[in-house]
Amino acid sequence: MIIDLRSDTVTKPSQGMLDAMMQAQVGDDVYKEDPTVNALEERIAEMFGKEKALFFPTGSMANQAAIKLHTNPGDQVICDKYAHIYNYEGGGASFNSGVSCKLVDGNRGMFTANQVLEAINPPDFYHSPLTSLVEIENTTNKGGGACWDFEEILKIRKTCDDHNLGFHLDGARLWHALVAKNETPKQYGEVFDTISVCLSKGLGCPIGSVLVGDEAIMRNAIRIRKIFGGGMRQVGYLAAAGLYALDNNIERLNEDHKKAQEIGEELTKLPIIKTVEPVETNIVIFELNKDINEPRFMQKLADKNIKIIGMGGGKLRIVTHLDYTDAMHDEFLSILKII
Ligand SMILES: *Cc1c(COP(=O)(O)O)cnc(C)c1O
Repeated sequence: MIIDLRSDTVTKPSQGMLDAMMQAQVGDDVYKEDPTVNALEERIAEMFGKEKALFFPTGSMANQAAIKLHTNPGDQVICDKYAHIYNYEGGGASFNSGVSCKLVDGNRGMFTANQVLEAINPPDFYHSPLTSLVEIENTTNKGGGACWDFEEILKIRKTCDDHNLGFHLDGARLWHALVAKNETPKQYGEVFDTISVCLSKGLGCPIGSVLVGDEAIMRNAIRIRKIFGGGMRQVGYLAAAGLYALDNNIERLNEDHKKAQEIGEELTKLPIIKTVEPVETNIVIFELNKDINEPRFMQKLADKNIKIIGMGGGKLRIVTHLDYTDAMHDEFLSILKII
């Protein structure tokens, strides 16, 4: 039994999901004739109370399209130093949209409205790039699955309004925040101009993300997706997995959170571990004591068929997910006791 805790992207479609996929009605989505894709887009738009939703092959492409929709070349995007769009999308913000990122020094990937205010370049000072977009992530990936305080998000919205800035949410793991904090998609739809959500992370789909927004901002989204090479054909088979996941795999995220909590508690007891970051959702980030050899620790786990991942800077990451079963959890906890 291999226990793969590197990411929540390692899941494989369940039998129920596969059945739903195989039964999907499909058509050519480039002509917008795929009924299953259309149904998924309508459903997610409706969930968030937005006018439009568009299916994308990846979360990166959905985020990159959003940046393109909100900015012009030369502009600047305000985001956290931990942001996925800055660290993990291959430099796409500069490559695809010709924009730079003004990095905010946040706490676990989260910052305040005051920090946004300080990061905005004065629009009449033509020496500096024009600030046009604020981007946040909920939950934060590099921040260890931390959830934003919704009150702070509201304050940032106000700052964006005062300074005529777009507001995009990278919601790859927004589902986790909604479940953990008992929040609703509509709440988020009211605040953000655009939101990307992943179906292939916690929800267990093989592929797929969706970008939502109102008609005015989304008008060009389909063109940009085409330019990025993301116009797909009979892709309802994949959208069907998304519909299945919305019905079956959101509520259960609590189980992943509980397992992550228990792993965090077990790690805290280990003398070889320096710190475990607070566990709010399905990600556990921890640091080994300085005298502990990291590759050797990873190898020890690998020898017991356990895979975890390094985040750089001495930090290690564990992510719980749909395919991390109760039996695996028991096994992993008992291995941790003797490692
Ligand atoms: C995984 C992830 C994405 C998108 O990733 P893809 O692999 O391109 O689907 C975007 N943002 C965050 C925070 C993520 O964790």
